[in-house]
Amino acid sequence: MSVKENLYRFKGIIPENVQLVAVSKTKPVEIILEAIDAGQQVFGENKVQELVLKQQELPDFIQWHFIGHLQRNKVKLIAPFISLIHSVDSFRLLKEINKEALKNRRIIPLLLQFHIASEDTKFGLDYEEACDILRSADTQNLKNIRISGVMGMATFTQDHNTIRKEFKKLKGIFERLKCDFFSEDHRFKEISMGMSDDYRIAIEEGSTMIRVGSGIFGPRG
Ligand SMILES: *Cc1c(COP(=O)(O)O)cnc(C)c1O
Repeated sequence: MSVKENLYRFKGIIPENVQLVAVSKTKPVEIILEAIDAGQQVFGENKVQELVLKQQELPDFIQWHFIGHLQRNKVKLIAPFISLIHSVDSFRLLKEINKEALKNRRIIPLLLQFHIASEDTKFGLDYEEACDILRSADTQNLKNIRISGVMGMATFTQDHNTIRKEFKKLKGIFERLKCDFFSEDHRFKEISMGMSDDYRIAIEEGSTMIRVGSGIFGPRG
């Protein structure tokens, strides 16, 4: 199936309250233009260099999401245009994003990434670390970021029970943080979970944003 057919299929099956982030990493701009032709405007990338090149070549109306591990010294390269950073897992990174957002006179929305998988190779906070960050006055003084929700990646496995359990855990973390830190803030609302192989389970477990690459663009080779 073509990129367009895949996108139309996704748009037909995902609920209205779930946003589809088309993960275009490794794919050339010609392919991204096909997706744009099919009405897609939200794209996810995981490498700063690649993202910056594509952003320069493609239309300004595109909303770029950063979904990969972000080094502090590269924040300045994406701060002028990034719509959402999914992968924030330290106070030092929050602080750097705030600094660069301020320079650009912007407020940058972001998600806190949690470690929910059993693999220890994946980045992310645990619940206690997040609470420490959110409690601190230093964080509350960062006026140029907006913490909009949480993100997580399930274990790479065929075992649906494991995946479901991990997504339930992320949803639980979201609910607790919402209650303890964001009860007055309706903009803390996003749960970014689900990829090509597990988005169905993620949606059943309350995802508001799925990040789909190969399911739209085909295998990455
Ligand atoms: C690559 C990637 C995706 C998309 O993966 P697919 O399996 O191709 O859908 C989603 N999230 C993150 C963080 C990724 O790096």
